[in-house]
Amino acid sequence: GEEPRLQAISQAIRVVPHFPKQGIMFQDITTLLLDHKAFKHAVDIFVHRYRDMDISVVAGVEARGFIFGSSIALGIDAKFVPLCKPGKLPGEVISEKYVLEYGTDCLELHVGAVQSSERVIIIDDLVATGGTLSAAIRLLELAGAEVVECACVIGLSDLKVRSKLNGKPLYILLEPR
Ligand code: AMP
Repeated sequence: GEEPRLQAISQAIRVVPHFPKQGIMFQDITTLLLDHKAFKHAVDIFVHRYRDMDISVVAGVEARGFIFGSSIALGIDAKFVPLCKPGKLPGEVISEKYVLEYGTDCLELHVGAVQSSERVIIIDDLVATGGTLSAAIRLLELAGAEVVECACVIGLSDLKVRSKLNGKPLYILLEPR
C-alpha cells in the first residue's frame, strides 16, 4: 500500500514556522528533494495514478510545481509545460490574474505550448486557498485544454477549496494537522 511511502514523504518535509512571515507554517519541500527515496515515492505515486489516463500534458506551477511536474511528465511520457510568474516567458503568452491575501498575482502560459483538446494535469507542491490552482485551470482552459485534475503533494485546505477549483478534482498526498 501507499501508507509507508506517504509516511516517508511526510517525514521528509520540513515545517518552518513564521516563514516568510509571522503566522505562516511554511512547508519546505527542499528537504524532501534531499531524500531521494522519499522524493521518488512521491513522483511514483503520481505516475502510477496518471500513467493510463491518456494525459498528454503536465503543467507545473512556478517554481516548486516545476520540480514535481517535470519528473511526473517524464514518468508518464507526457510533455511538460511551465506556468510562470509574469515576465519570465520570452515568447507570446496568455495570462490569468488571481487574488492573493494582499494584492494580485498572475500566471502566464506560452501560446502554442498546449494544443486545444489536449488532456492536462496541473501540478504544484501545495494547495492552501486554491487561488493559484484556480488561475492555472482558467489559463489552460483559455488555451482550449481539457483539465483532467489538479494534484499537489500537500493540501492545507479544507473542503472549501474544492468548490474553488472550478469543479475540477483535486488530488493530494498529505494533509498536515
Ligand atoms: P494558494 O493559492 O493559497 O492555494 O497557495 C498555494 C501556493 O502558495 C503554492 O504555489 C505554494 O507553493 C504556496 N504556499 C502557500 N502556503 C504555503 C505554505 N504554508 N508553505 C509552503 N508554500 C505555500
